[in-house]
Amino acid sequence: MDNYDLIVIGGGPAGLMAAGRAAELGASVLLLEKNNNLGVKLLMTGGGRCNFTNKIPPRAFADAYGANGKWFLSGLTRFGSNELINFFKREGLKIKVEAAGRVFPESDKASDLLTLLVEYAERNGVTIRLASSVLKLEDDNKKIQAVVSLDGTALRAKKFIIATGGRSYPSSGSTGDAYAWLRALAHRVIKPRPALSPILLNDDIKELQGISLSEIELRLFQGDKKLGSAIGDIIFTGSGLSGPAPLNLSRIIARHPGVPLEVKLDFKPAFNQEVLEQNILALTHENSRLYLKNIISDLVPKKLAAYLLAASGISGSKKGNGLTKAERQSLVKSLKAYSLSVKGLRGFEEAMITVGGVDLREVDPKTMGSKLFSNLYFAGEILDLEGPTGGYNLQVAWTSGYIAGESAAR
Ligand SMILES: Cc1cc2nc3c(=O)[nH]c(=O)nc-3n(C[C@H](O)[C@H](O)[C@H](O)COP(=O)(O)OP(=O)(O)OC[C@H]3O[C@@H](n4cnc5c(N)ncnc54)[C@H](O)[C@@H]3O)c2cc1C
Repeated sequence: MDNYDLIVIGGGPAGLMAAGRAAELGASVLLLEKNNNLGVKLLMTGGGRCNFTNKIPPRAFADAYGANGKWFLSGLTRFGSNELINFFKREGLKIKVEAAGRVFPESDKASDLLTLLVEYAERNGVTIRLASSVLKLEDDNKKIQAVVSLDGTALRAKKFIIATGGRSYPSSGSTGDAYAWLRALAHRVIKPRPALSPILLNDDIKELQGISLSEIELRLFQGDKKLGSAIGDIIFTGSGLSGPAPLNLSRIIARHPGVPLEVKLDFKPAFNQEVLEQNILALTHENSRLYLKNIISDLVPKKLAAYLLAASGISGSKKGNGLTKAERQSLVKSLKAYSLSVKGLRGFEEAMITVGGVDLREVDPKTMGSKLFSNLYFAGEILDLEGPTGGYNLQVAWTSGYIAGESAAR
């Protein structure tokens, strides 16, 4: 006998939203979470402030997810950021919108949002079981029959939602358990890889460690082919690049494993080459008797100026009036397209999200239902769908959770 209409595995944002919505529509729901607390990762988001969505329209929202965004558009149209904001307002949350459309709780506390979500689930009658780690799924006749927990107990239900997240920040509970269950069910899983993670470089850039810069454009290349770009703040680490722009570019790097890639840094994206060259010409005229390393530190921090001059084959101890036209052009090239070779990305311990997961070709975007098992649904980061920083990843959890909950409750 089925004890519940629905079992939801995973008590993160996707699982809580799915469980709450299904219960609101009248389903009897059991939520299983392996941690002793719900929403451990949710509490870490946005530095504890929780950038839970973004205020841009559905189509632009969908575009932010790249190639897989098309799959998600119908979901975003049904329960996108506006519907989500209204949902949280109805639940009593005060919100605020910051730069680039990022939406936060007015209190700057992720815990306020989590409290409301848990209240929403509990008020609608969801049974929550903590410290309940699911070990595997049992199937028969193209249906999931039960989940088996770590102590060997089999729990039965009519429907199941997998909301176990990805593999990033495994200390939060997201250890990627469900990938193995799904492969055992012959569901296709795109290999999970860390993303929104610092970039590692082959080049030795130790001397730049600690330099942080604003509004830098990064362009990613495979040979001559441009794969993508990102603009924003960067920081040089001892081994590579971190900060919002490198993190956003890391999503594309994660989707090109084992391929030689180059990242080109444009330190002055606001100027084209000609304008920048004219600026340098003017600076060297005005300061003809100063050392070049001091003149160029008008454009970039001193350590970086010295590094770029050396990389352009120019002695920093040369005076302004000694810079030749060829040297000036070489310096402009270094400032506009300084090329570094990508070694890879930092691992899951430091990655905010996981690229990869359940192959979207096997999931119906209108229901979040599996195309292989009629009573199985997916929500959140377990799906092969990820976005840049700015609230896009939590929106995956909210939208897919809401839709999976509704579909499973029908
Ligand atoms: C440091 C950090 C900051 C972030 N900041 C933002 C941000 O500001 N904005 C944004 O949009 N996104 C942010 N993200 C991404 C966002 O947190 C995730 O996309 C989101 O949490 C995914 O939700 P989820 O419910 O799918 O998975 P998760 O939040 O990972 O939840 C999955 C749950 O399933 C449980 N579980 C796993 N396996 C089992 C099992 N076998 N049995 C039972 N339970 C299980 C886990 O313990 C976990 O509680 C951030 C991520 C990190 C790491």
